[in-house]
Amino acid sequence: MNHSRILILMSDTGGGHRASAQALQAAFAARYPDRFQVEIVDLWTDYTPWPINQMPRLYSPIIARVLWFWKLLWAVFENERAFSAALRLVYLISRNELRRVLQAHRPHLIISVHPFMQHIFLRLLEHEGAAIPFVTVVTDLASFHHGWFHARVERCFVASEVAAAAARRYGLQARQVRLLGLPVRPDFAGTLPDKEPTRARLGLADTAFTVLLLGGGEGMGPVAATAHAVAQRLAAMEADCQLVVICGRNERLRKALQRSDWPIPVQICGFVDNMQEWMAASDCVITKAGPGTIAEALICGLPILLSGFIPGQEEGSVSFVVENGVGAYCDSPDDIAATINDWAGGSQLVQMSAHARELARPRAAYDIVDEIVALLDGEAADTRDS
Ligand code: UDP
Repeated sequence: MNHSRILILMSDTGGGHRASAQALQAAFAARYPDRFQVEIVDLWTDYTPWPINQMPRLYSPIIARVLWFWKLLWAVFENERAFSAALRLVYLISRNELRRVLQAHRPHLIISVHPFMQHIFLRLLEHEGAAIPFVTVVTDLASFHHGWFHARVERCFVASEVAAAAARRYGLQARQVRLLGLPVRPDFAGTLPDKEPTRARLGLADTAFTVLLLGGGEGMGPVAATAHAVAQRLAAMEADCQLVVICGRNERLRKALQRSDWPIPVQICGFVDNMQEWMAASDCVITKAGPGTIAEALICGLPILLSGFIPGQEEGSVSFVVENGVGAYCDSPDDIAATINDWAGGSQLVQMSAHARELARPRAAYDIVDEIVALLDGEAADTRDS
């Protein structure tokens, strides 16, 4: 059978872009089995020359250790002229490598889930005379680098009203902008597992107040200090409670936490593949303001306590969570512990949980994929007619 080829452009700067790319890939497979061949490419790592191809590898260490440098880079590239000059340079240096993407994948449609793909790739398509439809799926919730928005895309899928307004501000027409939600993996799209059996399956106490603590895919931020502060505070309450800490790919953090003594039951995990189960088993989540984790928590109706954000791309997520009444923001482990203490003893969790479910868009990946397929089918019909 002849498959239509879809190419998803992303880069591993944080875990969220790949997670959204994989969610779309899984949604194509689930909704249109055997019709599409969907390939995911890290454009920066695989198709740009040294030293540009080192950027994704350096992203996490820069965020973790020299945040001021990230803030500086972000501020420089917020300037549209500086951004466009930098991309022109990258394009000139990388053009031959970039051509290989088209030769290797021969896509019928291209999806970008990264802010730094639009300008470079649309320029490539223009220079190569390749009329391949190009769509953007914005994987940030409420703060946007202008690189996300390019007036020549067929569609720009966004996850919030703020994102839709930003797209319009950068010159996209209303017909190009579609507000369908952030694509999260299909595990979150169906019926979520019930709390008590899930707790039993995960080795958790079935009735205890359960706090989930995360730091994104890389286990970033003051996760250890927060875990200790929250555990101490909950222990002082003498209530029935437990803490789950998911360290992601941060093995050093996992080992350090496993060596610690805890005053309440604490379960410590490395990178988990069943986030929907851990969220379904919990009563609230403490996390940095990663858009993927926020979208998943909303689907699970989990009140969200934000413990930090990456300057630039995650800043807007804080107001998104607070203003929508689905959580709070605290920037010190002691304040986080005090807030969790209030939540454990109070009634506001129920209301925040209801607000979270109202905002959730569990079928976003399926809805986006359906619209992309309609777009492809429309293009095919236009080609037949002309
Ligand atoms: N994640 C996961 N397993 C882990 C830790 C994180 O599957 O052990 C997933 C999480 O569910 C989310 C993504 O990694 O889908 C993190 O994305 P987010 O946008 O929150 O933060 P980032 O890592 O991109 O900064």
